[in-house]
Amino acid sequence: MPDSDGRVAFVTGASRGIGKAIARLFGSQGVKVVCASRTAADLERVVKDITDSGGEAMATPLDTADTSAFSAAVIQAAERFGPIHILVNNAGIVRDKLILRMSETDWDSVLDVNLKGYFNGIKAATPFMMKNRFGRIINITSVVGITGNAGQSNYAAAKAGAIGLTKSAAKELASRNITVNAIAPGYIETDMTGQLSEDVKNELTTQIPLKRIGSPDDVAQLVSFIASDEAGYITGQTISVNGGLYM
Ligand code: NDP
Repeated sequence: MPDSDGRVAFVTGASRGIGKAIARLFGSQGVKVVCASRTAADLERVVKDITDSGGEAMATPLDTADTSAFSAAVIQAAERFGPIHILVNNAGIVRDKLILRMSETDWDSVLDVNLKGYFNGIKAATPFMMKNRFGRIINITSVVGITGNAGQSNYAAAKAGAIGLTKSAAKELASRNITVNAIAPGYIETDMTGQLSEDVKNELTTQIPLKRIGSPDDVAQLVSFIASDEAGYITGQTISVNGGLYM
């Protein structure tokens, strides 16, 4: 992907799981990667991994739910690496409970990170993209935002909201050559799904036509394509990477 050389990507939730795989893939493609999440020590490990392999990366400790902190982090990253070309809104949390048992805090914290955090990223990064007259915004949503899921009303609402946010931002920003797309993973092997028992994982696998749980790299490869010049005519879409779980 030669067009990626020298571009700058801001990846949230880059310390673990899907975000880490995205950051490492960008790093291997000559993209300068700004790695953001709340835990500085985890970020430093990812940055070392990328730089040890010959890439460029920096760690940016950040709570994505904090609007002004997000804006400051993007400005600080731009001072070091130059203006952001690619934003991957990926940081997410779950607080699963049935609605009757779900607290206001369970609801608010999931919406704050998984939806408001994505708005914060778009608001912070788009001024730089507008100046470049180029941008790629990629919002990681979920199959659950399309299908719903018992016990995940907060998470599914946030992920469905991210799809609406994606379409609206795509319409607002198209004239500036900024594409905005959502990627909807199915079940991916990360800490988020790590608590599932082997029995539950085996049962899930039987429902997946490709008969396996996905890997973070399955998602990272699609992110890399959507971020490329070759994907310049794709905007406002929600693209699934789910082994056929939902069609
Ligand atoms: P993980 O739990 O493995 O990683 C979550 C990442 O987000 C970590 O880097 C975490 O770092 C960061 N994070 C959490 N809250 C915040 C916050 N407030 N501010 C900044 N960073 C934060 O999750 P996955 O890699 O599995 O998930 C990544 C994305 O993919 C999420 O949006 C998730 O909803 C989505 N997804 C995942 C699926 C799966 O099966 N795994 C399926 C479908 C969608 P730290 O805790 O240090 O802040």
